[in-house]
Amino acid sequence: MALDRKPAPNDLGAFWMPFTSNRQFKSAPRMLVSAKDMHYTSADGRQILDGTAGLWCCNAGHGRPKITAAVQDQVETLDYAPAFQMGHPLAFELANRLVNLAPDGIDHVFYCNSGSEAVDTALKIALAYHRARGDAARTRLIGRERGYHGVGFGGISVGGIVNNRRFFGSLLAGVDHLPHTHLAENAYTKGQPDHGAHLADELERIVALHGAETIAAVIVEPMAGSTGVLMPPKGYLKRLREITKKHGILLIFDEVITGFGRLGSPFAAQHFDVTPDMITCAKGLTNGVIPMGAVLVSAEIHDAFMTGPEHVIELFHGYTYSGNPVACAAGIATLDTYAEDGLLTRAADLDSYWQEALHGLRGLPHVIDIRNMGLIGAVELQGIEGEPGKRAFDVFVRAYEAGILIRVTGDIIAMSPPLIISREQIDELIGTLAEVLKATA
Ligand code: PMP
Repeated sequence: MALDRKPAPNDLGAFWMPFTSNRQFKSAPRMLVSAKDMHYTSADGRQILDGTAGLWCCNAGHGRPKITAAVQDQVETLDYAPAFQMGHPLAFELANRLVNLAPDGIDHVFYCNSGSEAVDTALKIALAYHRARGDAARTRLIGRERGYHGVGFGGISVGGIVNNRRFFGSLLAGVDHLPHTHLAENAYTKGQPDHGAHLADELERIVALHGAETIAAVIVEPMAGSTGVLMPPKGYLKRLREITKKHGILLIFDEVITGFGRLGSPFAAQHFDVTPDMITCAKGLTNGVIPMGAVLVSAEIHDAFMTGPEHVIELFHGYTYSGNPVACAAGIATLDTYAEDGLLTRAADLDSYWQEALHGLRGLPHVIDIRNMGLIGAVELQGIEGEPGKRAFDVFVRAYEAGILIRVTGDIIAMSPPLIISREQIDELIGTLAEVLKATA
């Protein structure tokens, strides 16, 4: 829809919204104007209970004073420092803090500005790592069906969401996909499903097809979020780790959603007791306040780049805003807030309460599966024939009108509230969703 005149400041026309049905939105906008703790305030003055931590990122809830103050101070003290060949103390401090949270063996941090950039950075590091070791034939990358790794060309190439791939040409060459891990026999599993560890063995098939010596890395979300909360079956991630190790293939965990307490430990790697070679993170890194992403890498990977002459740039990669001082200040204050409020383990404390509340939705109209882990959950609905996603989208709109923010992907409702949620607020969130679902009967 072309604009027929220059827009006034409050017109909705000029902003092309991401991953949004723009025409639908602009005919019935959902506008948020402020936020505090567990709630957004809508433009029409209603309190909306945040059931999604924004987009899985505001893990400490909204408007946290320490983070706000840190950002305000930093803007006044050092607003920007060149990211290349120059440093500032907060970038080093935050890196140390992140390494201290990460699994043993992961001990360096490369900064970027988003999850998508973290993924593309990790893929590039994997390729350059093998090359730095004289293993230049290792160029193939392996992702997974129903994986979401952001929207960069690397991320959509290894990602497995059809619509994010099919409109954009031939993508990266030399990419294979593991099967997704969502099996019908696991429906209504509470926590980690029993069936499906064998799906990791598909990696052996891909290795046999191409030769291990051609494969650089495997990237998976330890728990796939954006395609509808798909849990790793018991034993699956350990198996992936064994196979990648056996063949000298790097394993990357995309923890953009699972990082920073979502499953009850700092990273999912610790929750599942599997240490990858790299972890990508973003979102909860700054509580969503300032865009920031990071790749956490193993000593072995980092060291491979530190062997040439000292003055030479080691990795030809970086962003103007890598380690931006304001983002670093937000990151440090966020980690402080998580620590002070015990938020990195809170999902473990609430896990069974959340699980029972969520599974109480079983039997409501159109519900065909429910799954949960930590403070994340999904309710899958039977879609309307010929109109995929319509039923869940209607639920999303009605839920918003009823005062809760949920997220839908296809016909799956996903919820991932801030880790500060109270038990009463869990009841309110799930209770409101139950009423909305009943009204769809
Ligand atoms: N990886 C994963 C696992 C994600 O969930 C997301 C965002 N939902 C991304 C990457 C991309 O992050 P961003 O939108 O910050 O680019």
